[in-house]
Order: sequence, then C-alpha cells, then structure tokens
Amino acid sequence: MGRWLIASAWPYINYMPHLGTMIGSILSADVVARYLRMKGEEVLFVSGSDEHGTPIEVEAVKKGIAPKRLTDENHAKVKELFKEWGISFDNYTRTENEVHKKFVQEFYMELYRRGFVFTKDVTLPYCPKCRRFLPDRFVTGTCPYCGYPEARGDQCDKCGRLLEPSMLKDPKCTICGTKPIWRQSKHWFFDLPKLSDDLRRYIERNKNLPENARNMSLRMLEEGLKPRSLTRDNKWGIPAPFPGAEGKTIYVWMEAVLGYLSATIEYFLNKGDPKGWEKFWLDPSTRSVFFIAKDNIPFHTIIFPALLMASGRGYVLPWRVDSVEYLTFEGQKFSKSRRIGVWIDEALKFLPADYWRFALISMRPETKDSNFTWDVFISTVNSILNDTIGNFVHRTLKLVERHFDSKIPSPGSLSQEDMALLDGVRCLFLEASGLLDSFKLKDALNKIVEIARLGNKYLNETAPWDLVKKDKTRAATVLYVALRIVKALSIALAPIIPFSADKMWHMLGYDDSVHDHRWFEALEDLPIGQRIQKPSPLFKKISRKDIESIKGSTESRLVDMRDFGKLELKVGKVISAERISGSDRLLKLTVDIGDNTYKTVVAGIGRDYDPERLVGRKVIVLTNIRPKVIAGVSSEAMILAACHGEQLSLLTVDRDIPEGARVR
Ligand SMILES: [Zn+2]
Ligand SMILES: [Zn+2]
Repeated sequence: MGRWLIASAWPYINYMPHLGTMIGSILSADVVARYLRMKGEEVLFVSGSDEHGTPIEVEAVKKGIAPKRLTDENHAKVKELFKEWGISFDNYTRTENEVHKKFVQEFYMELYRRGFVFTKDVTLPYCPKCRRFLPDRFVTGTCPYCGYPEARGDQCDKCGRLLEPSMLKDPKCTICGTKPIWRQSKHWFFDLPKLSDDLRRYIERNKNLPENARNMSLRMLEEGLKPRSLTRDNKWGIPAPFPGAEGKTIYVWMEAVLGYLSATIEYFLNKGDPKGWEKFWLDPSTRSVFFIAKDNIPFHTIIFPALLMASGRGYVLPWRVDSVEYLTFEGQKFSKSRRIGVWIDEALKFLPADYWRFALISMRPETKDSNFTWDVFISTVNSILNDTIGNFVHRTLKLVERHFDSKIPSPGSLSQEDMALLDGVRCLFLEASGLLDSFKLKDALNKIVEIARLGNKYLNETAPWDLVKKDKTRAATVLYVALRIVKALSIALAPIIPFSADKMWHMLGYDDSVHDHRWFEALEDLPIGQRIQKPSPLFKKISRKDIESIKGSTESRLVDMRDFGKLELKVGKVISAERISGSDRLLKLTVDIGDNTYKTVVAGIGRDYDPERLVGRKVIVLTNIRPKVIAGVSSEAMILAACHGEQLSLLTVDRDIPEGARVR
C-alpha cells in the first residue's frame, strides 16, 4: 500500500469555475483519488478556494463591499457545487482560513531567517485620489503590443501578453480613472536563482513529470531564473510578516500555492491529530500528484519546489505534476466576459453531473489541446454513455427480471465462448487499471467502454431472449456472464461516473455503496440468488433541442432573426413629458407612435434629461410589450437608450422620418 497526496489547483473564485477548469484540475484529480482509494491506497485529496489578490479586491472596491463578503458567498456556492459534481475532497478549504494564514506567515519568516528573502525599492503607480498604490489590475491603460485600451497592469486580455504597470500607455486608476503618479515602494523578493542547481537536479531526476512540464521547466532554467516578488501593496490578502513590511500583503500566487500544505495540516487538526500531516509531507515515501492546467506549470515545477527546498524542513517535493493541455470551447478560449463556455453551475441545471464527467474525461486534453464541441458532446452521451453502457446494463437486468424472477441466476457450466469473453473483460479491465496508474484517464475510459461493447456483442450473439424458450440453463449461464460484466463496469466506472456506478451496483442487488468496495472485486463472482432491484434506464439521450436551451443561456446570446422580428420597434415623437413626483429618475412621457396612437411610457432618464427639452424629440420605442405599472403609472412601451457606465443617451433617427415608421 502506498500513500498519496492528491491535489488539484486552487480555483480563483471571483466567479464559478468552468468546464475547462474542471477537466484541467478538479475532475481529473477526483477520478484518480477515487481510483486509488478503491485500490486500497492511503489517499488525501485537498484543494480550496483561492480568494486573495487584485481581481477580487478590484471587484469589491467597485461594488463598495468588503472583499470577504464576495468570497464568502462564492466559496460557499462553489463548495456546494463540487459536492453536486461528486468531487470527493477530503478537505476543500480556502485561503482565508486561519491555519493557512498562520502557516504562510511562519513559512515566509523562516525563509527570511534563512536568507532567501531580500528587499528592493521599486517604482510603482500610485493614485493620489484613492491614496493607494495600484498593483496589477488596479491600473489600466493601453497595451504596448496590441493597442487594446483596457489592458491591465499585469496582463492584456486581448493579446494575452504579460505586462508591467510601467509598460501601459496612458495609465489610469481602475477605480477612479485618475492618472497615477510614480512612487517608490519597498518590496520583498524571494531569491529564486539561488536554487537553480537544486531545481535542475530535481527536474532532471523526476521521471514522473509529463513532457510539457519537463520541457517548459528546463527552458526556464536555461533562460535563467529571476527573483520573484513576494509582496504587494494590497489590502486584501495575508499581511506580510517581515520586519518593516507593515501595510503590505503576500502576493497571492506565492501564498495560495502553500495551500496544499496548510490544507493538509488543517484536515488533521480538525481530526484532532495535529501531527497527522507530517507523514504526507515529511515522509519521502509519500507520492504527491498535482493536477493543473499547463499555464500553471512554472508554479508547480519551479516555484513551489523551490519554496519547499528553501524552507529547509525536508518537505516532500511534487512527485508528479499532471499538466494537461488546454480544452477549448467550440474552437475558442473559455471567456467569462465574452460568455464562451459552460460554467459548473449552469451545466448541472441541464444534465446530471455524470453526463459532464463522462464527456469531459472522454475529451481530456492529455497530449494535445482538445476541443469541446456540442456535436461531440451529444454523440458521446447518446452513442457511448446511453447506447453502449446504459443499454447493455438495462437489457441485461430487464431479462433477469422477466425470466429469472429478478434473481441472479445460477449458471450452468461456462462454454469456451463464455470463458473467452470473461478473459477479454479481464484483459481490458487490467489495461484500464494500468492506464489509470499512469494517469491516462481518457485511454482508460476507452478500455472500459470496450468492456461494455463486448457485453453488447455477447448478448446479440447469444440472444438470451430466444434461449429462455429453448434452453433455460444456457440462458441462465449467458445472463450470469452478462451480469458479471455489469459488475465489472460498475466498479470500473465508479471513479468516473460515481453516481451512476453506484446506481448500477444497487440494481445488482447490493445494498451498500460501490465506493466502499475494492477495485479488483470487479473480476469476482456474483452472489447467486441475490435479488436485483427493479431496473430503470441509467441515462437518457439528449437532442439538439436540449443543447439549444443550454446554448441559449450560456454559450452565446445569439438570437434567431425571427426572434428579432417579434420586437415591434417604431419611431415615436415625444408629445409631453413630466417628472413623477417622489423620484428624480422617473419621467412620464406620452409618445406618438403614428396612426393616432399614443403610448404612455415611464422611463428612468430623469437624471439625464430635462422633461421640457424632450418634447418634440424623436425616439425609438418598443411598442409591443405587456403594460407594467411603475410608480403608480401604467407604462405601455419602452424607449431605447445606449448606456455607458453612468452615461445614458437616447436613440433617435438621423433623418426626418415620420413617427410610426418601423425600425428593422
Ligand atoms: Zn484612484
Ligand atoms: Zn495586448
């Protein structure tokens, strides 16, 4: 038996994770953790919400709330969603937990005492109006590479290049828009180059790094490592513990990565075993595996090991960094702002977690980028999950229910053919195990699907539904063999589709959970005479239409042209306008929309337009909406305006067009 620390990259929780994050780290880690547990290994699976840093601080400042209010909410939501996705964390924690904060501060003080931390004065943008330094995305400006005007101080969203605040043209404070001044600020740095030789040795000797991680790391060493900044002038974060560093926090990247350790410590503290963590981090026989996307490689193969080395505590270095390539979505990068992708909360509104888990593992980008398309998703669910696996299980159980009184039949002697089949199943199962052992989850899943294919082929060739009429003993044997395959599938699929695998297990008549059973029981006999449960289909097919409803709400806001035609937009002329008493925002307008038709409109434009100046103006009106009572007045139409931040501008026509003209 071995000991494993399974870790998935900590999701940054300014928003929900999307499917790319799931397959890149969390879901892959879960499959491996579940597999190893079933093999009887000692496993600890940890992760947590990464909640400090500028993106969240900026959002909170803009909303006028404390950052922790934002992260409290998101952390609770994400934690619940991971449960619904069947992610079997032993500890899913957060960087605001006290154990983590204390650990980080003590850890860096130790590095400071050991001479791995030095200070340097740096010139940074400072907002005289907000009276604060502007780290990372607190400053915005024009990208020097691509000219994008909203580039952030740390990165350009348009061209993806990493930036320094000083590289931005026309920089401005993200919060108030003021032009920053440049000020000196003292900062603390981690002396990474000091560890270059040790790191090179570690990477060259580590046979478990995937090729992309090894190559990228060696290239970085080749180019020469640079000191990494450890502190920020942020308020939201873990206070920097160094003497003279009051008011500064630890840079979020350098802090969250230590969460793997603190989450282990916290797990054992909660269990009342304060020294329990040591075997996972100090005993060199522990194998630690980190599931990350490839953009995270340097932090896990260079910076994290370097921090562990510098501490002098003899921490176990990462045994494997499992860095998948990217999953794109219909050929594009997942993007929150552009609404490209599916997020983990939306996904579950349409289909249970197992559908997504199965499809994502089957398209896991193990050796090259892979592309999520709805076509592939539909065919994976329909022809593999439903037709190949679901139907085989259902057919078998139905026959047992109908012809053998819902009891696992006692087989006659197995034929040559039966033996060959069970041998084939055994081979595929062992191949799948070997592939899981080498973290090839997608290939392992393919082998497991092959098992179901063998089962279907066997049923088709033996036709037990005919056999029962002619040779009931032979039919019993055939169904017994088929049930053995159902059992093998239930165990083999347990790490991948934990909910459905458990359902299969219960349908076989077991009353405990498949997850409490051992991996190699998949190849064992069945309890003859055991009563099976009433079979019901495990999966359902999905149609284009189901997908349209997902797409409509997530992937894009595209509407059909016919839908636009449903909106009746007309040119209107304002006949009268007055303020609605008690509101500085609402105006009551009467609008002529042609054909002697007048509409009363309540519009929230009172802060931008004086009522007197509106009379006689042409506006664009949405005329076919259901009336709605606003501030006691029935509003029968809407007028269109463009909004930019606080600014508002009414739409109009730029030629003399009569009221009543249709807008197309
Ligand atoms: Zn400012
Ligand atoms: Zn750019």
